[in-house]
Amino acid sequence: MIPKSEWQGLGALQEQTNYPLLNQPIDELALGEIKSAILAKLRLAIGKDAGMATRRDWYKAAALALRDRIVHHWLSTEKESYDAGAKRVYYLSLEFLIGRLFTDALNNMGLLPVFEAALGDLGVDLSDLRKCEPDAALGNGGLGRLAACFMESMATLAIPAIGYGIRYDFGLFRQIMNQGWQQEYPDEWLAYGNPWEFQRPEVVYNVHFGGHVEHVNDRGRDRATWHPAETIEAMAYDTPIVGWRGQHVNALRLWSAHAPDPLKLDVFNTGDYVSASAEQARAEAICKFLYPNDESAAGRELRLRQEYFFVSASLQDLVHRHLSSDGGLRNLAQKAAVQLNDTHPSLAVTELMRILVDLHSYRWDEAWKITVATFSYTNHTLLPEALETWPVELFERLLPRHLEIIYRINVQHLALAEERCPGDIEYRASVSLIDEKSGRRVRMGQLAFVGSHRINGVSAMHSDLMKETVFHDLHHLYPGRITNKTNGITFRRWLMLANPRLTALLRETCGEAVLDDFSLLERLESHSSDLEFQKRFRDVKHHNKLALARLIGERNHVKLDPSALFDVQIKRIHEYKRQLLNILETIALYHAMKDNPQANWVPRVKIFSGKAAASYRYAKLIIKLISDVAEVVNNDASLGGKLKVAFLADYNVSLAEVIIPAADLSEQISTAGMEASGTGNMKLALNGALTIGTLDGANIEIRDAVGAENIAIFGLEAGDVMVRRKQGLDASDIIRKSPRLERAIRAIESGEFSPGDPARFASIGHALRYLDHYMVSADFDSYYEAQRGIDARWQVIPAWTRASILNVARMAWFSSDRTIREYAEDIWHVPVHPSAPPLIGTRREAKG
Ligand SMILES: *Cc1c(COP(=O)(O)O)cnc(C)c1O
Repeated sequence: MIPKSEWQGLGALQEQTNYPLLNQPIDELALGEIKSAILAKLRLAIGKDAGMATRRDWYKAAALALRDRIVHHWLSTEKESYDAGAKRVYYLSLEFLIGRLFTDALNNMGLLPVFEAALGDLGVDLSDLRKCEPDAALGNGGLGRLAACFMESMATLAIPAIGYGIRYDFGLFRQIMNQGWQQEYPDEWLAYGNPWEFQRPEVVYNVHFGGHVEHVNDRGRDRATWHPAETIEAMAYDTPIVGWRGQHVNALRLWSAHAPDPLKLDVFNTGDYVSASAEQARAEAICKFLYPNDESAAGRELRLRQEYFFVSASLQDLVHRHLSSDGGLRNLAQKAAVQLNDTHPSLAVTELMRILVDLHSYRWDEAWKITVATFSYTNHTLLPEALETWPVELFERLLPRHLEIIYRINVQHLALAEERCPGDIEYRASVSLIDEKSGRRVRMGQLAFVGSHRINGVSAMHSDLMKETVFHDLHHLYPGRITNKTNGITFRRWLMLANPRLTALLRETCGEAVLDDFSLLERLESHSSDLEFQKRFRDVKHHNKLALARLIGERNHVKLDPSALFDVQIKRIHEYKRQLLNILETIALYHAMKDNPQANWVPRVKIFSGKAAASYRYAKLIIKLISDVAEVVNNDASLGGKLKVAFLADYNVSLAEVIIPAADLSEQISTAGMEASGTGNMKLALNGALTIGTLDGANIEIRDAVGAENIAIFGLEAGDVMVRRKQGLDASDIIRKSPRLERAIRAIESGEFSPGDPARFASIGHALRYLDHYMVSADFDSYYEAQRGIDARWQVIPAWTRASILNVARMAWFSSDRTIREYAEDIWHVPVHPSAPPLIGTRREAKG
């Protein structure tokens, strides 16, 4: 086991972060107040005095002192929206990848400088404390991080909102590297308590499973009663999420599972201690851990229990709120907008129908109108196999009443399909909520679509492709429902906190107001060719690169030249994201350098970071390949240090915050048509990295924003990929025409990087040659050329710097404030804060 003190591992190596941007004059009165508040927490909440306090004690005391200040705003926010009868947004997501909250909340509250000074006076370094906070990884990747950025932006725009999810005991596994292989360890993020959350033992709902349904005829109407076999309690834990400038605070409400009867005393007294708490163990399994994303469609019963558990608790909670304030549910859609983040919460559609029809005696048609008007659904993938389905048999056993409701929805839905395309059996089968072909399964994507008034994709291209592919027939049946909402990121975290030095330069150059209105970033444009300004801009990047070089030096024992080009690919390890293409190009570059060591090579550092799902063996083999290549390349003295490769273990939000500000080049090289949007691409461009990428997801909109001359696009386009796949996946012809590619593949196959185990990567070689589904071989030459184009550009420093500055200047549109504004106006119909900055730039609705 890795000791828990490893949490400090990243922190200990992270750069000092005194926030130069916020060095404002500090009010002495406020300073004294904060100091005594922290000391009081230390004594009264932690039970220690300054002499015996550990760093973690100080962190907790400071976090609690900060939390007090947030709570005041929280309660007044709550009261205001309640009094105003404001419409609320409910964001349902199985994942919230929030990371650390301490400096995020301090920054938004405007309290960073005074806390830093107060702690300093007490002899404690704020950047040290920051490292004591575990990185809350209640998500796998982009989808979960999106939910976290959205929570922050909703608070900033003063939209009354609640995020609903599960309080997992263990977040995403921690990745430890063992001789280049990934190993997974449990993430005990709650081991030392969590100062941000409020346990709500009085907010408890019963969630039921199993049993049978009874139907009686009640004065001519069918009335269904579900007699469940099992009950589990959902208890609320609230975390306040504070918006920029601290005025509005929303709650992230996460559910924890418990047995209603945790200990059977009679059984316990017979001496059978294990059976006595068996129910508790079964209940708690529901919130034990976060599922890795590649297993979500695997038909795991526990996963379906998780989904219904959090959907049921969340809907009971919101219904309870509206019953107590509005006295009924008839106007629910005027008072509540429920956003389903992916298909995981799709059951909410059936659960609301059950509540309205079975528990509140609404007529079916009226209930259906309310339901559709209340829900909207965000789709995150085009792969039909990644859209969840569940065996009908499992539904029958676990959620018998919900299955009946699904059947009834399907009847009216298929009748509409029959009306639209009479006699077209294929059409009906394709839109049906039940997949009859693969052993009768319930289709969660179809359910979410049919039950929502708006379905959105997450980039212009993705939304267009949705209409042409996965939801082609549903789009035809319900035209006008599909809309686009291109993803965004919160600039508070990904610029202000991650890159304080760049932020300081931006404030000086664009004016203070840039912190409230990112469209003012465009003021950078007129400085982009100013050599004096360019130097200051490069100095910021250099500083950030030094910090990352130090981190990599200490963690990976690789010495880096901070003036080298830092080439970064950080994201989940997946075949479609094509880390394999990147490492293959690294191998080819290595060969080229060895052939011609005297040439004027651009020094490069290839930085990789990301986790592979524990069961995804091929992805784990790719990690091993990266590590093996690193081993050989980094120790080859003949290169003179011109090429280095580093795989940074345990990618998470906190690590991203260190890597991104130091990147020169951003790798966004997914197989075209497969990345729905990407948000890593936005974070990196905002921090001045040039993108090398395919025409995929939001890369296309980034190109449109920053200008085609400030991004490097290569490779097949989505249409080409579809055509090639139809023609076959054999890449032998391509490889025959590219000696460089042939040599790189042969190096992998012959054990050049795994001399002790030459056959280790045989499966990768085989896939590259004969099963090139992800077009790695097909795109190789184009990618290699684009990389050499990058080398050439890098050598003209003023031109490179200008392109980098223009990337920063033109990224304002990718703020999640803009995204949330669009959701608010087009989908939720809720007002945003009147002083919020206007919608940035032109609206980009998907065509077609
Ligand atoms: C932004 C982010 C992601 C998403 O990255 P993509 O490159 O869009 O896949 C995943 N994980 C973490 C920790 C992130 O911060």
